[in-house]
Amino acid sequence: MKSEIISIGSELTSGQNLDTNAQWLSQKLAAMGVPVGFHTTIADNLDDNVKCFQIALDRADLVLVTGGLGPTQDDLTREALALVAGVELVEDPVSVEQIRQMFAKRNRPMPDRNRVQALFPRGAMPILNSCGTAPGVWMTFGRKQLFAMPGVPSEMFVMFEEQVKPKLLALGIGGGVFLQRKINTFGAGESIVEEKLLDLTRRGHVPEVGITVSDAVISLRILSHAPTHADALAQIDPIEALIRERLAELVFGAEDEELQHIVVRLLVDKKKTIATAESITGGLVANRIAQVPGASNCLMGGVIAYTYPWKENLLGVPAELLRTKGAVSKEVAEAMAIGCRQKYGSDFAVSTTGLAGPGNGGEAQPVGTVFVGLAWEGGSIVQPFSWMGTRQEIQSRTAKQALNLVRLQLMKG
Ligand code: AMP
Ligand code: MG
Repeated sequence: MKSEIISIGSELTSGQNLDTNAQWLSQKLAAMGVPVGFHTTIADNLDDNVKCFQIALDRADLVLVTGGLGPTQDDLTREALALVAGVELVEDPVSVEQIRQMFAKRNRPMPDRNRVQALFPRGAMPILNSCGTAPGVWMTFGRKQLFAMPGVPSEMFVMFEEQVKPKLLALGIGGGVFLQRKINTFGAGESIVEEKLLDLTRRGHVPEVGITVSDAVISLRILSHAPTHADALAQIDPIEALIRERLAELVFGAEDEELQHIVVRLLVDKKKTIATAESITGGLVANRIAQVPGASNCLMGGVIAYTYPWKENLLGVPAELLRTKGAVSKEVAEAMAIGCRQKYGSDFAVSTTGLAGPGNGGEAQPVGTVFVGLAWEGGSIVQPFSWMGTRQEIQSRTAKQALNLVRLQLMKG
């Protein structure tokens, strides 16, 4: 089973409008467990439409078309479909009446031109449009199905939900239960994560396991499609357990959870407090913690100590250390965290220092060099890293690295 979505309109191919219909339909088909193999976008040109329909009917079992059903001369979908089927266009009296009523509801007579919207390739079935004038077209080519719907998104949404989807289900296309689970990891690159899961991410594995990356967070998506909810769960649960076992502490959460959610949860559970001493991240670490409801139960405060004197004045980093090691150093990151913890009297203090770029500000290290520090009662640790990316990306990733360091320490007990 493979499907294709065709979007028609010169306003789409010219770049004037974005084709959002294909995205919406793909999500709907995915939720029904129908794989989409192709997205095709075509300008309002008759020959090209005919060719694209032929190609689609050749390579896909289900073809969903949007656009080109209007009353104007550039609306060519009906004509192109008739050419593909090798039949003539015939008027459907029921559709003429429905279009007339659509205009009557708005107290307007039906313009003659709209009559073309009631033309259908002989043998095609009209699909009711309850929110506009253009009926849809349903055609069968052997075992293959084609549904043409209006381009106006609001009309298309309703026609798909009310008319097309029930027909697909009745045809035995889609149905069953589609479940998804997302597992989020931080601390290793995409290829290292995948290396541990090669047997699961291979093509054709049931359930499907995919990897996506977003701002240094690597997520595993487990997708299952089964006749019942229980069957779908039975596919997902053991695979999730296996992934969690293999990736161990790289896994920090699931679905929409971010590192700060876990950090706040762990701090509150353990009744511990935290403070932040930030240079390169300019307050981002504190900001992310503060975004989480309940942060007031664990976040005591934080300082942004951006320049040398303020690292000294606010955090008590020795001037001598700054002079000999430079601000972007393991030693200064550690002194910032220890000084911050003393200042706030918190259980933990986390620090960040580094070079966000694009210039390296006269420091010896390359852009992207960062150190995050963590201090707690009786100990401290510094983790170096070398990020790549824009200034914003380096700052965001450093903040995540700092939150992850806190998470890993909290998990130790
Ligand atoms: P049509 O049915 O071709 O007359 O399209 C009517 C209007 O719907 C167009 O002018 C666009 O604004 C919008 N439209 C058509 N196709 C799409 C699409 N694929 N994605 C988003 N909007 C669309
Ligand atoms: Mg159009």
